[in-house]
Amino acid sequence: MFNRRKFLQLSSLGLTAAGFSGFRPKTAGNQPIVISTWDAGIDANKAAWKVLRNKGRALDAVEQGVMVTESSQGCCVGLGANPDRDGYVTLDASIMDEFANCGAVAFLERIKHPIQVARKVMENTPHVMLVGEGAQQFALSQGFVLEKEGLSKDAETEYKKWLEKSEYKPVINIENKKHQTAFAPARLSDGSWNHDTIGMVALDAAGNLSGSCTTSGQGFKMRGRVGDSPIIGAGLFVDNEVGAAVATGQGEDVIRMGGTHTVIELMRQGYAPGQACKKAMERLLKIKGSKAKEIQVAFIALNKNGEHGAYCLQKGFNYAVCTGDDQNTLIEAKYLI
Ligand code: ASP
Repeated sequence: MFNRRKFLQLSSLGLTAAGFSGFRPKTAGNQPIVISTWDAGIDANKAAWKVLRNKGRALDAVEQGVMVTESSQGCCVGLGANPDRDGYVTLDASIMDEFANCGAVAFLERIKHPIQVARKVMENTPHVMLVGEGAQQFALSQGFVLEKEGLSKDAETEYKKWLEKSEYKPVINIENKKHQTAFAPARLSDGSWNHDTIGMVALDAAGNLSGSCTTSGQGFKMRGRVGDSPIIGAGLFVDNEVGAAVATGQGEDVIRMGGTHTVIELMRQGYAPGQACKKAMERLLKIKGSKAKEIQVAFIALNKNGEHGAYCLQKGFNYAVCTGDDQNTLIEAKYLI
């Protein structure tokens, strides 16, 4: 039943009864905004903003934005990142637009920009996700080139360090204690979290939302492991009537709770983006119980009005918000435990 309470909730999101039954994108007058995960988001936002400030499409903005991070060798995203436990860098990415079109690649090797391949999957195939060799073959058929094999210098060093102690035990809890980065993002000496993903969502001048997510997954993961980032509804979800959200952190747990889809559904019920992220995080805490202390998960979200918010499990997650050439700032997210 559509009651007064529901109406007030929807009004607080700028959605009226008409909007609830079928929102039509506005055509002018929206203030574009792009938000993205972690501090690497600052540079990624700059590239996305170039598209948005010229009234470009949010889809192009989120693709071009995260490509910056994929190219950056010093970062934990893209081919410069830490490998799996067999020494190979394998990449996951997904993208979603305002029409619920989506595309993803997983377990992709030697391709510099998996996000571009994800977009090609979305636009040029009848499928949503391609993985491994098939994804690579598809990329080549679309004109992408194979990058040379091997690890970046930093990744090589990290991998050698990891190999010294690796017992190659597929029991997650045992390995977790010995090599935290194998399955759980680990705290760095400065107290921040080791992370491997950039997720970005944007609202364009036409009032449309899109999102992207790209990662090397977790360092020293089992070969073939795929996280949440390429899974629509887990690492990324966009509903142009409501909002868009991305996740970062322990992918297995984000998948377990249908992370970003949950955030969007909470926003649909009337929660503001930050509140929706918090509610979703509370659900995760309930599932994980005392084990929640071993992991980090974070959500960021943007609604149809350009309001944004985030929440993480543990202290140390930040996200970058950009609404102008000189308005691109990092915000420390609130945390649950
Ligand atoms: N969510 C990513 C994964 O599990 C990793 C991360 O965000 O750090 O693959």
